[in-house]
Amino acid sequence: MTRVLENPRMQHTRLGYWIEEAGKPEPRGPLGDRVDADVLVIGGGYTGMWSALYAKQLEPEARVVLLEAEPVCGRGPSGRNGGFCNAMWFSLASMRERWGDVPALQVAQAAEQAVARIGGFCEEHGVDAWFKPAGYLQVSTAPAHDGSWGRALQACRELGVPEMLQPLSAAEVAARCKSPAFRGGAVSPTSATVQPARLALGLREQLLGAGVEVFESSPVSSFREGDDGVEARTAGGSVHASRGVLAIGSAAKRGPLRSRLTVASSHIVLTEPVPELLEEIGWTNGDCITDSRSLLHYFRTTRDGRIAFGWGGGRIAMGGRTKGRAEVDADVIAAATEHLYDYFPALRGRRISHAWGGPIDASPTHLPAVTTLPGSRAWVAAGYTGNGVGPSNMVGRTLASLVLGRADEHTNLAFVDAKAPRVPPEPFHWIGGEAIRLGLLKKEEAEMDGHQPGRVASAVAKVPELIGFHIGR
Ligand SMILES: Cc1cc2nc3c(=O)[nH]c(=O)nc-3n(C[C@H](O)[C@H](O)[C@H](O)COP(=O)(O)OP(=O)(O)OC[C@H]3O[C@@H](n4cnc5c(N)ncnc54)[C@H](O)[C@@H]3O)c2cc1C
Repeated sequence: MTRVLENPRMQHTRLGYWIEEAGKPEPRGPLGDRVDADVLVIGGGYTGMWSALYAKQLEPEARVVLLEAEPVCGRGPSGRNGGFCNAMWFSLASMRERWGDVPALQVAQAAEQAVARIGGFCEEHGVDAWFKPAGYLQVSTAPAHDGSWGRALQACRELGVPEMLQPLSAAEVAARCKSPAFRGGAVSPTSATVQPARLALGLREQLLGAGVEVFESSPVSSFREGDDGVEARTAGGSVHASRGVLAIGSAAKRGPLRSRLTVASSHIVLTEPVPELLEEIGWTNGDCITDSRSLLHYFRTTRDGRIAFGWGGGRIAMGGRTKGRAEVDADVIAAATEHLYDYFPALRGRRISHAWGGPIDASPTHLPAVTTLPGSRAWVAAGYTGNGVGPSNMVGRTLASLVLGRADEHTNLAFVDAKAPRVPPEPFHWIGGEAIRLGLLKKEEAEMDGHQPGRVASAVAKVPELIGFHIGR
């Protein structure tokens, strides 16, 4: 479905630009029979595909089956995201607070290795996912946000990895990308960007080549975990396996992670190619950038000189049911476009060619988690909170070990069965979540305009912290 907004030359679609650019592979047929397997993976996003690939690599004789609801794998957030592929150094302070020094460092290092592994995967298999090593910058765009990265810098210093995050003065930020809105910042130098849909399709091709049995257009309608194994049913058949992985992203909110996730949404606008403007503002080294707002903006350049500008300020979906608004939301796109112009005024009058969005599986900790289901035969992974491109490789590697019954350094990582606060039941969760989103929006708009935020907005924006939820990084 294409929705034309006030800008008739902009394509505002569910799937977005990256999926269109990556091209259409031949879909695999749906499941049409009973299949017996060793490993069952439900969900063909990055998490499911990395899990299946690593499981097959670790045990080539194992029969690994993957079921995906969409006609082609990688059409969920994995094919539609901003393509920031980064480790978790900006989250080191919050991981340390939750898990302690050594476990936090182990996870950050595993996430760091995941970025390198994704680059290595693309190189080894000739996957042209536009993988480009890049700095990941967090910048301040309001006095109230100056130094927001201080705790993360301190954690890196105190845990002996000061090189992983480096502070940048306003002049150093401007030398990398000039904007009237930018102040100081910090950079995580070992990050990368990708064309997300190309990475997903490259991964799918390698899965098929490795002998993973992939069934698409196969939404799982029921999943059961018993003493003898797991069973998934679709309209056309069923899979019975010894163990299983549920890598269904935000759909887990409507299943096993009902009390663990909030389904928010994030939206992206893409400009026409503007290479001369990128030259003018000195943004030519491929850095990917975020501001320091809780309702985060994230932006990057593309191979053909466009700017992809995303905003995590989209609506919250009651009970995880997005009703299409996580994907296509004219109001949010209009706001994101204005924010883009605030940061890069010279873009006014230039064409926004594409817009799209997708659901965000937000966890109260803002960290991904792997949860063992009661029978210890299946694991569910979600909660990346908009930061899954790099970390899903790390989590996929962990899931591969778990589903093969191994205990190793991957299964020992702190995000496996980590304790986290639960979210309230609906409709209280949605009402509270939307109130906090609107409070944050008002507070951050006032901060951007240099005003003192109103007392009500400030008070509402503080609620997550008071109940142990982490908002922001
Ligand atoms: C607009 C946007 C921008 C983002 N930008 C970034 C970014 O720049 N950097 C970053 O690190 N992260 C970003 N993210 C987050 C990132 O995309 C996710 O964290 C990541 O893709 C999660 O991968 P996943 O495999 O766990 O989930 P998903 O990609 O959601 O995959 C889950 C899959 O399961 C399938 N599925 C669901 N239910 C069923 C069922 N019943 N049966 C069978 N299959 C099912 C779905 O169709 C889907 O393909 C962004 C997300 C969005 C929406």
